[in-house]
Amino acid sequence: MYNPKSLKAEEFISNDEVLESVEYAEKNKNNVELIDNILEKARERKGLSHREAAVLLSCEIEEKNNEIYALAEQIKKDFYGNRIVMFAPLYLSNYCVNGCVYCPYHLKNKHIPRKKLTQEEIKKEVIALQDMGHKRLAIEAGEDPVNNPIEYILESIKTIYSIKHKNGAIRRVNVNIAATTVENYRKLRDAGIGTYILFQETYHKETYEKLHPTGPKHDYAYHTEAMDRAMQGGIDDVGLGVLFGLEMYKYEFSAILMHAEHLEAVYGVGPHTISVPRIKRADDIDPDEFENGISDDIFAKIVACLRIAVPYTGMIISTRESQKCRERVLHLGVSQISGGSRTSVGGYVEPEPEDEKSEQFDVSDKRTLDEIVNWLMKMDYIPSFCTACYREGRTGDRFMSLCKSQQILNCCHPNALMTLKEYIEDYASEDTKKVGDELIKKEIENIPSQKVKDIVLERLEKIKNGERDFRF
Ligand code: SAM
Repeated sequence: MYNPKSLKAEEFISNDEVLESVEYAEKNKNNVELIDNILEKARERKGLSHREAAVLLSCEIEEKNNEIYALAEQIKKDFYGNRIVMFAPLYLSNYCVNGCVYCPYHLKNKHIPRKKLTQEEIKKEVIALQDMGHKRLAIEAGEDPVNNPIEYILESIKTIYSIKHKNGAIRRVNVNIAATTVENYRKLRDAGIGTYILFQETYHKETYEKLHPTGPKHDYAYHTEAMDRAMQGGIDDVGLGVLFGLEMYKYEFSAILMHAEHLEAVYGVGPHTISVPRIKRADDIDPDEFENGISDDIFAKIVACLRIAVPYTGMIISTRESQKCRERVLHLGVSQISGGSRTSVGGYVEPEPEDEKSEQFDVSDKRTLDEIVNWLMKMDYIPSFCTACYREGRTGDRFMSLCKSQQILNCCHPNALMTLKEYIEDYASEDTKKVGDELIKKEIENIPSQKVKDIVLERLEKIKNGERDFRF
């Protein structure tokens, strides 16, 4: 039975409810009156239910689809302005005891080199990331209680936060590790993590069990209820995601929104972020063997409909996607992107030899962080290295109320400009510096409060003179 308030996976992601939503959407995909009503509701910018959003996703009327794209773009601008938050993944270990059939780190893969960074190696990776200009990381690890126990993850987080190389610092560590216990989530919270990210991979239970035939990840309920345990362990910011290509995208779309509704219903706060990865080629993985791959057009539609359905939720796209694809979805709702990423263990310090590749998947966007920052600014986006919210205690519903109070332009916008200035001073190439300084000058004018504007001008001057880490 469907119950968003239930703590049981099979009740808050009821298979019947997902299927009925998909069917309802299919029936109404050309129902102009209903689509108009849903779009009208969406214009209030309070989000949509999974059923309503599913209708928009299925809609086949070109004129209405253009309205959907335009609305997604407008909502993106209203909530996030032109800021794009930057981050990079850091792979700690690819030891893994699971059998995920889409991931080259699965236990049966005997030829991929297994690596686990020592604290000394982590230090070197972090220095390399700091020297690129990164301030925000997402740490990644396979699931292996012997090689990657929670103590190893906690020690690594401590190491990462402790490194101050030149003007560098990692100010927010997001964590993408396997589902764990409330007790361990509490330990992660106490270690000062930002978002806890866990991709559901697929919400379809039967498919999930087939794709995770062995290992602890096989347990659908334990995996699906992980965000509840994270919230119970005191982590306010959680990040959802599905791996598109594993199941029918319409199924995943309704289900991920039901997951968001469940978190909102039980904990009063929805997911902090949603990620939209697609399966990529990897060591012994051929994405063409998966039948549910989606086209770039459908991918763009998913991003637009998610943007409309959950306007307060950040949306993440990684370097799995090409420059062209990323450019398209930035307009439609994506608010965070990675740059200069390596998906191998130890890949930032030195590239791995051809016959020793430990990568999790092929990266499509291979540009450097500087190239990505430059590219964003030339499209009039502000690359933001801001990590202020969680450091100021604005997590969970406190972050959401900042969004809702429309104070973003007096808070996030100046923080983005100040952290961009730090990047420009410390890491940018000549051209990026020039483009960046012009952008900052122009964007200062968009700060509504004169008082805030004066403070920002003063701080930008201080940053130029060597001071760091200002924030509102
Ligand atoms: N092992 C952890 C877990 O089970 O959640 C940590 C995350 S893993 C390093 C990060 C994510 O990469 C996975 O959740 C999965 O969605 C994604 N992934 C795995 N194989 C992939 C592939 N071949 N292409 C694209 N993404 C992949």
